[in-house]
Amino acid sequence: MSAVISLPATPPASATTVAATHPQAVLHEVFGYPAFRGAQQEIVEHVTAGGDALVLMPTGGGKSLCYQVPAIVRHRAGQGVAIVVSPLIALMHDQVGALHEAGVASAYLNSSLEGDEARRIERELMSGQLVLLYAAPERILTPRFLAMLQSLHERGLLSLFAIDEAHCVSQWGHDFREEYLGLSALHEQFPGVPRVALTATADSHTRADIVERLQLQEARLFVASFDRPNIRYTIVEKDEPKKQLLRFIRDEHEGDAGVVYCQSRKKVEETAAWLQTEGINALPYHAGLDAEVRRRHQDRFLREDGIVVVATIAFGMGIDKPDVRFVAHLDLPKNIEAYYQETGRAGRDGLPANAWMSYGLADVVNQRRMIDESEAGEDFKRLQRGKLDALLALCEAIDCRRVRLLGYFGQPSTPCGNCDNCIGAPETWDATEAARKALSGIYRFRQAGGQRYGAGHLIDVLRGKTTEKVTQHGHQSLSTFGIGADVSEAQWRLVLRQLIALGHVEAEGEYNTLALAESAREVLRGEVPVRLRVPTETKARGKGARAERGSSPRGGAGKPPPLPLDEAATERFTALKAWRAEVAREHNLPAYVVFHDATLAEMARAMPGSLDELAGISGVGAKKLEAYGAEILRVLAG
Ligand code: ADP
Ligand code: ZN
Repeated sequence: MSAVISLPATPPASATTVAATHPQAVLHEVFGYPAFRGAQQEIVEHVTAGGDALVLMPTGGGKSLCYQVPAIVRHRAGQGVAIVVSPLIALMHDQVGALHEAGVASAYLNSSLEGDEARRIERELMSGQLVLLYAAPERILTPRFLAMLQSLHERGLLSLFAIDEAHCVSQWGHDFREEYLGLSALHEQFPGVPRVALTATADSHTRADIVERLQLQEARLFVASFDRPNIRYTIVEKDEPKKQLLRFIRDEHEGDAGVVYCQSRKKVEETAAWLQTEGINALPYHAGLDAEVRRRHQDRFLREDGIVVVATIAFGMGIDKPDVRFVAHLDLPKNIEAYYQETGRAGRDGLPANAWMSYGLADVVNQRRMIDESEAGEDFKRLQRGKLDALLALCEAIDCRRVRLLGYFGQPSTPCGNCDNCIGAPETWDATEAARKALSGIYRFRQAGGQRYGAGHLIDVLRGKTTEKVTQHGHQSLSTFGIGADVSEAQWRLVLRQLIALGHVEAEGEYNTLALAESAREVLRGEVPVRLRVPTETKARGKGARAERGSSPRGGAGKPPPLPLDEAATERFTALKAWRAEVAREHNLPAYVVFHDATLAEMARAMPGSLDELAGISGVGAKKLEAYGAEILRVLAG
């Protein structure tokens, strides 16, 4: 397969004289996109010109094009093949499939190939035909492979190294891979070949590790905006979490693909089974399942429409399905980094998507306990506690979630208009008095006999309920009995959660009994004001993303197409999807590799009547126009 496409593409709008080897022209001709996103253009130009780069971009930000476009441009200029280092063997097949669909000569080498097949690809590589070759680091670092690279290099046919998921080189993160450490050899052995390292991990520790271990001191650093404007963040208090989840899916995501994260395998199984009985196409995924079952479920998620995967965090790395419409957390994620990475798997196509989380008191207590009881050293525990506190502050926030998220990554911003707090400013109340009453309640228990009690009993006492336990312990005679009758039980839970989240109260032991922390004194003395949100009882806060599809969120990098479609257009969209499913099956590829939903929706809406018009739609490159143009026009004509 040749990378040079003979079919005339519509000339780029800017000028007809742009050479076919210009990055902008390649973006348009090969990928069918009208414009680079954010930092992409600068990165592409820098790398194409032969510079080294370290690229930090959020999940779904568009990292692939940052090396694919330079690879194509440099190949067309006679500079040979780009080697893409990727840790995710499972993903290479689909990535290369997508490049083939776009008409780019590319291949992957990994352990899944038969010997014959591998040798054929090696021959293609050595002949200089390939534009991109994907391989895992352990393969690249074999003496045999390095010798092949050397031979290419000597002939001037080694154009670029792209090191994907570059944070794998850092022991700091949790994706550390020993094999990545050897990649500095590439720089030592092939000093003149430009290198671009890419990651979605933003923290400064990891960044420093990457620079040092990959010897990227001379590389230019590109930090893209971490904002994902099309994702709407919503965090609700746990009430009946499974039912809340079901309502969320039914109200906003009927028939959509999504991921539901739970903390334990057992909960994954239960939740998936329950969703199934409720008619949702849900599949479980966790490390305890058979490898074959896991593979099958992941495959169905990638290839079928509208599958919901219920998973532990074992699911996700390397899922680059662009049309995941929601990510839900039934339990608190580990920290903000994890939350952002997991929610980032929604809406890579730039269309509206939801990140939804439910959390409650038990989450806070469990997370704290997991840290306390872990084998880690004190320093590490302190770090983990700090991270948990930041996450809790996000959950309890009464102001813009996005401002807080981006602020956590060091990026200042203004209220987004596309998170739950921006959309329906939460009602708040001054809880200072209530907080003092709750703390007094705990204090009185201690005075009255030194025993500790859990939140439920404390709330009963505060609200003046004469339960069996209350009379048994004589707690109706405490001075705190009934002092909080004016505050609802839900509000008391919120107060306690906040006090625990803020570290004023500690929950300990099997029964989560409550004790005062040192810092409680300031609150008791009324020195620290406490402002809380009024529990929402998760009333439907207007309609979510679905109802508002088409209203473009602030500064949207990925501009949503004008959905919702009218009835006739929806019919065309459905017909196009059916056609796409057919093609995807024939090519043994996920549907989105053929065309994204966004592209099909735009076709259905704009109803192009000729190949020329079709070529103007974002996502239709020259190769796809040639391969599918006529069929699409036929489907559109009905
Ligand atoms: P990342 O690797 O950073 O998570 P990808 O490279 O997978 O992100 O890109 C995310 C999605 O955005 C892909 O589906 C890709 O086709 C799309 N995309 C990237 N850049 C552009 C662009 N300039 N215009 C339109 N779509 C883009
Ligand atoms: Zn907001």
